[in-house]
Amino acid sequence: MDKFQQSQKSKLFKTSTHDPYCLQKVEGSAICPQCDAVYQAGNWTWKHPENMVVHNAQTATCPACRRINDNMPVGTLTLSGSFLLKHRDEIISLIENTEKKEKAEHALERIMDLTDSAGDLIVTTTGIHLANRLGHALEAAFKGNSDYRYGDNEYGLSVDWTRDE
Ligand SMILES: [Zn+2]
Repeated sequence: MDKFQQSQKSKLFKTSTHDPYCLQKVEGSAICPQCDAVYQAGNWTWKHPENMVVHNAQTATCPACRRINDNMPVGTLTLSGSFLLKHRDEIISLIENTEKKEKAEHALERIMDLTDSAGDLIVTTTGIHLANRLGHALEAAFKGNSDYRYGDNEYGLSVDWTRDE
């Protein structure tokens, strides 16, 4: 990691608490009517057996569902290169498996859409950490090159992954 990447990284951690979709505070506990995520003690999590009974829960749409409803992704990955055309299915299953793991741990980290655009594959996410994790998972599994660009004033992350063969 060079100096530039380092400064980009520290910027990410400075802005990560500034996600406008997470600023809306919920008093007490809540359940999202769309995905059943539970808000307790300041965090959105999946319903686990130990918090199955949520007392006096309000109904509040979670930040991830609000982003999906508004079509406002935080992370955008653009995959390109001739390797993608030949190994599309393997790449998509890696993306889906990576999402499954991340989403199980972090309720607000989800894939929004997978779309084809002129031979490229565009993946949008509700969370910055999933976008980052997908970029690294692609490099770890298939080599190639990932380029990470964190939003400056706006909260967000764009990842370009490419491999030619
Ligand atoms: Zn939700």
